[in-house]
Amino acid sequence: MSTTHVPLLVIGGGIGGLGSALALARAGRTVHLVEQAPAFTEIGAGLQIGPNATRAFDRLGLLAELSDIAVHPRSAVVNDAHTGERLTTLDFGPKFLARYGYPYLVAHRSDILNILLQACKREPLITLENNRTVVNVEESSKYALVTFADGTVYTADIVVGADGIKSRVRQLLDKSEPVFSGHVAHRGAIDIADVATEVNHDDVVLWMGPGIHLMQYPVRRGELYNQVAVYESPRYSAGRDDWGHQDEFDEMFAPACAEVRNAIAKIDMSRAWPVFDRDPLDTWSTEHTVLIGDAAHAMLQYLGQGACQALEDALGLARALGGFPDDPARAFKTYESARIPITSKCQTVARPWGRTWHTDDPALLALRNRVFRMRAADDYSDLDWLYAERPEDVAPLTV
Ligand SMILES: Cc1cc2nc3c(=O)[nH]c(=O)nc-3n(C[C@H](O)[C@H](O)[C@H](O)COP(=O)(O)OP(=O)(O)OC[C@H]3O[C@@H](n4cnc5c(N)ncnc54)[C@H](O)[C@@H]3O)c2cc1C
Repeated sequence: MSTTHVPLLVIGGGIGGLGSALALARAGRTVHLVEQAPAFTEIGAGLQIGPNATRAFDRLGLLAELSDIAVHPRSAVVNDAHTGERLTTLDFGPKFLARYGYPYLVAHRSDILNILLQACKREPLITLENNRTVVNVEESSKYALVTFADGTVYTADIVVGADGIKSRVRQLLDKSEPVFSGHVAHRGAIDIADVATEVNHDDVVLWMGPGIHLMQYPVRRGELYNQVAVYESPRYSAGRDDWGHQDEFDEMFAPACAEVRNAIAKIDMSRAWPVFDRDPLDTWSTEHTVLIGDAAHAMLQYLGQGACQALEDALGLARALGGFPDDPARAFKTYESARIPITSKCQTVARPWGRTWHTDDPALLALRNRVFRMRAADDYSDLDWLYAERPEDVAPLTV
């Protein structure tokens, strides 16, 4: 079978992989990207894009395109899913913009992926290949050796593992399995006309209740409405086959208020996603190989940060390789020392944050709701660690 040498190979064409291909090409690198699927697609529905990631889009020169297709919500509203009470609001208006310099947007996943894909296609330094499934990655002292399902082999000076939570590349460093959260999600975007009179068109709306939550927001310039319903699934945890079925879903959401029950009647039940994350790693790299995105730090969705952090990784890696163009191992260490602390914090904070959303402990529930009721809509003090610009974000993408 044939062996081909490429200088830099990105494995995986999700938001992290396409984002890193673009950032690396903008920094002057020639990039070859392989994706197992026959086309570049995102399954699922909406994504929340915090100001740390809209900043990343700006650095890639794509914020105007994103802004055009996205929705700019006025605020995030948190309600009690059982009583329907509004507990707190997070204002995304002028004070938020002044504090972080960038907006909070919500968009359809496929729109985000398409913006990155089209930008990669316009970039002469990037080659994209579909139908390329990596089955093995190993290293010699000279390069990384990547074997595909059809038996062909690529060697590369640098391999970027952007192959998601079940990463094959990660196995070079870590043989552990993803960790099940106990939660199952149903998600999808529907025509806004189907819910036009029932929903809030201006805000991201979160309903949190014991064992369940529902997240709602408009996407694609307000033409579609995204809903994600999540619940704790003892059936999945017990290894049963009948998890994610309508009766389990209905049972979990039965105590919810009428607005939530009406909304979930429009959720697409044809597919359910068990939700996994991973424990943080101390290192993401070997001599020639480095991880980004979910391959490096899959996290629960409760901070809305998995894809945002993947985009920050992409820029961080491109900057680090720009700083040490002839010494990838040193660049990887620079990248890791900037990125591992923040992503590890996301991973470890998202777990208890999710438990707080879902708690059925009466004392914790009362305390949570009381704290939420007391906070001001423009109190951003708990968000600076995620959203504020860090000194390392400012450096240009250069070689
Ligand atoms: C319910 C839910 C809600 C979420 N909400 C948000 C949110 O609001 N905001 C946010 O920022 N994040 C959110 N996330 C997280 C976000 O979806 C992920 O963190 C992000 O999509 C990860 O991108 P990635 O490119 O690293 O991985 P992936 O999107 O998984 O991409 C990996 C790619 O690699 C390819 N691949 C895998 N194996 C191979 C192989 N062997 N050979 C070749 N190709 C391969 C795959 O086909 C895929 O295209 C949410 C997640 C969930 C589950």
